[in-house]
Amino acid sequence: MKKHVVVIGAGFSGLSAACELASNGFQVTVLEKNSSAGGRAAVFHDQGYTFDMGPSWYWMPDVFDWFFERYGSSVAEQYDLQRLDPGYRVFFGKDDIRDIPASLDDLYALFEAEEPGSARHLKKFLDDAAYKYKVGMQDLVFKPCHSVMEFADKRLLSSLFRMQLFTSLEREVRSKFKSEKLRRLLEFPVYFLGALPSNTPALYSILNYADLVLGTWYPMGGMGKIVEGMQRVAENMGVQFRFNSPATGFDLGDDRVKAVLTADGPVVCDGVIASADYQFVEQQLLPADKRNYSAAYWNKKVMAPSCLIYYLGVDGTIDGLKHHNLFFDESFDDFAEAIYTNPKWPENPLFYTCIPTKTDASVAPDGKENLFILIPVAPGLEDTDEIRSRYFEKAMDKLEKHTGQQIRHRVEVQHSFAYRDFVDRYHSFRGNAYGLANTLMQTAVFKPKMRNKHLNNLLYAGQLTVPGPGVPPSLVSGNVAAGEMQKMLFAEQKIEQIAV
Ligand SMILES: Cc1cc2nc3c(=O)[nH]c(=O)nc-3n(C[C@H](O)[C@H](O)[C@H](O)COP(=O)(O)OP(=O)(O)OC[C@H]3O[C@@H](n4cnc5c(N)ncnc54)[C@H](O)[C@@H]3O)c2cc1C
Repeated sequence: MKKHVVVIGAGFSGLSAACELASNGFQVTVLEKNSSAGGRAAVFHDQGYTFDMGPSWYWMPDVFDWFFERYGSSVAEQYDLQRLDPGYRVFFGKDDIRDIPASLDDLYALFEAEEPGSARHLKKFLDDAAYKYKVGMQDLVFKPCHSVMEFADKRLLSSLFRMQLFTSLEREVRSKFKSEKLRRLLEFPVYFLGALPSNTPALYSILNYADLVLGTWYPMGGMGKIVEGMQRVAENMGVQFRFNSPATGFDLGDDRVKAVLTADGPVVCDGVIASADYQFVEQQLLPADKRNYSAAYWNKKVMAPSCLIYYLGVDGTIDGLKHHNLFFDESFDDFAEAIYTNPKWPENPLFYTCIPTKTDASVAPDGKENLFILIPVAPGLEDTDEIRSRYFEKAMDKLEKHTGQQIRHRVEVQHSFAYRDFVDRYHSFRGNAYGLANTLMQTAVFKPKMRNKHLNNLLYAGQLTVPGPGVPPSLVSGNVAAGEMQKMLFAEQKIEQIAV
């Protein structure tokens, strides 16, 4: 008899866990509360437009290759992946624009033009980041991080020093670059994804390596194509998906889960990987004596930002914008204060727009633009229709100013998504978009643990546990959790056999 594992949640981590378990001979059932797979990377269609609801930056293509090849497929078999060049456009002010090229030589030239001598520093910075990326991918991210002893190996310990865990990214960047523009270019990934650069270990320059060296890519048809590919691979290996089927609780024995409860009845299983938001599973689905962490623990956590998003269908084209566009024309300090130090709606938000129609005409009707606008904001802020309308006008003012074109009167499809949708749609703790901030005390062994310490067959996966937020880390998280589940269930099987 095959052992049966239930995976709660069909986001990237759940899909990854399901594939790994199925490829190792487990019977797998995925329970998903929403009507389709993808989790935060869901897709919706309206009037001929295809909107990706969450991720839009395809970084670290090697991780997607690893994933599909592991199950006998390939990225090329699943979708048509294109490298973007330029990777993205940055607006530092009206007519003060930089395009980030795919070619490293062109990137060095761009830095040099901004600050003479900086190309040499950039090369060193990226060489160091390449080392961190290599060690990180080979030796660190696939660790379950149950204990610091996993890192007690001479070779690893000596490399940890070069990983710059105890130097801040801000210090690293500011010691090398004087230009405020270059500093913003190198600090933005951590600002947008997690924490102040002053609180983020320089380890996270791996994000700069992913951005500037490995490049920005796009799956034609949209990010939803990755999800479709993963679901196809999973189904080919026999994974059963149950959509519109939220887990509502557990049937528990003393030290294990016997079944996952749903509105259609219990799903009996040998093990569970909970890839829905960790805090929700612990606080809402488990009794207090079976939780790893208290409400007070979660309330002390530093969360990565939430965001306010607009999905817009625009009649006609919008000139002057690329596929990805970052607007860095407001104060980073005010932005950081509104998100991290004194959470409130920012007066003058920094924001980001994605127009996939610049690369892919299939995601909008002919002659129209698909426009995604994302404003990072602090998690847990009040979210009303009035606030959403106000920020829509701010975003439009800025876009119209920078492009010199009227846009708002051409908007024919308009949707928004913010705090209350994150909570409602994903059971997201404080409406977080990308999980926990990447501070040192929330990295690796300091993250919420994968294993439930009271229940021998319950593991957590996803962006709130190791290795962290983002699509590639979520793929890794599901894979690592599945590996741990196999070890647990095989160990039990051996004990049963010995007993017989
Ligand atoms: C707006 C936005 C933009 C982003 N941009 C990028 C980007 O450009 N690049 C990048 O790499 N990353 C990006 N990210 C981060 C990335 O999308 C996430 O880190 C990743 O998708 C998280 O995957 P997950 O499996 O951990 O969680 P989720 O995707 O949240 O999946 C968890 C699933 O569990 C389900 N669920 C919840 N409760 C239950 C229940 N009781 N029963 C059953 N199912 C349940 C949810 O519906 C969901 O489908 C972005 C995220 C957001 C929100």
